[in-house]
Amino acid sequence: MDKCSFCGRNRGEVNLLIAGVSGHICESCAKQAYDIVNEEVKRDDDFKLSEVKLLKPREIKAFLDQYVIGQKEAKKVLSVAVYNHYKRLTQEKTNDDVEIEKSNILLVGRTGTGKTLLARTIARMLHVPFTIVDATVLTEAGYVGEDIESILTRLLQAADYDLASAERGIVFIDELDKIARKGDNPSITRDVSGEGVQQGLLKLLEGAIVNVPPQGGRKHPDQKMIPVNTKNILFITGGAFDGIERKIAQRLNTKVVGYGVDKDAGSLDKDNLLQYVAPQDLRSFGLIPEIIGRMPVLTHLNPLDRDALRLILTEPKNSIIKQYNKLFEMDGIHLEFEKDVLDYIVDKAVEFKLGARGLRSICEAIMVDAMFDLPSEKVENYTVTLDYAKQKMEQASVQRLRIA
Ligand code: ADP
Repeated sequence: MDKCSFCGRNRGEVNLLIAGVSGHICESCAKQAYDIVNEEVKRDDDFKLSEVKLLKPREIKAFLDQYVIGQKEAKKVLSVAVYNHYKRLTQEKTNDDVEIEKSNILLVGRTGTGKTLLARTIARMLHVPFTIVDATVLTEAGYVGEDIESILTRLLQAADYDLASAERGIVFIDELDKIARKGDNPSITRDVSGEGVQQGLLKLLEGAIVNVPPQGGRKHPDQKMIPVNTKNILFITGGAFDGIERKIAQRLNTKVVGYGVDKDAGSLDKDNLLQYVAPQDLRSFGLIPEIIGRMPVLTHLNPLDRDALRLILTEPKNSIIKQYNKLFEMDGIHLEFEKDVLDYIVDKAVEFKLGARGLRSICEAIMVDAMFDLPSEKVENYTVTLDYAKQKMEQASVQRLRIA
């Protein structure tokens, strides 16, 4: 009489009995075995994750160097912060009274200098779920726009709804400066769009259990909420904080020996005041003190000069030029750029004041015809010459590039 070699039930007692070389398995044991395998594989992944996390700060910076040009200071600060954050996660298993507090990070720097890229690269290195949210779309519950909880919905989605993994993820909140309270006067006029959102964010930053609608939004009022603990989620925020240089200058003039800055006003690098940014400048800019307190790691990004832009074109592991090479390679075409072309692309990015963001749109304008035609032609080698690049740029609508 055939029976399941695992639970011993015979053919009459089960729906399905699968035969093996010298035994059988019933459908419920097969299902149980499948669940065990899944569980083990997951545990294995978790183990690997903890290995990855243990990169030392220098190694973290070396990883960032492969993708992000310059920004030495920010990379250093970020490497230490991320290292400590993950040390803190592993420390939770020990039993002493010293609790390392979470250190969320604030990156101040002009748009297109690599803030998002840094955060994205960190997440890539750690293999943790990562999401980017724009602070400008956030509103207090009940106003038009997205609720603060939507940040966590996105993180859950990025983690394929694996709650444990989402709870260790990284959230990048861009344009944090846009929710600053307008004006210097703290309490007389309460600015709903700014301060209310800051209050809401505060809860997430400090660590709380937040009920999150898994599908997001108010479109699905009946959905079952998922409680997400934000205690171990690392928040990296960024903003251009346009005009904050004025606040920094004011502070440095009135208080030459002040917080974090121990310099003569005379020896200040006036072209890049952002490097002296301190918490009280953020306060003058309109962030509430509680929010500033919850982002103890504050660092700046430098504006990108010509040399940096030139390096960005070719040096990062997935640089724009490497991407074009790969695209053409897939059609069997070996692509080359004359050296002058690369300098010309940088010239145009500087001329249009587009920064690093502009490099790609300029490249696209130059390359679109070649990408359209060459795959249908029998070409093995193709060189983009300076004349060709200039001609394509003249044809392209400059207006379109400016907006890009
Ligand atoms: P931000 O968040 O500061 O506004 P991003 O990180 O989104 O800027 O940068 C926009 C694009 O410009 C990136 O996708 C990247 O291709 C390029 N870029 C900007 N800064 C750098 C940098 N320091 N190194 C390499 N690429 C950069």
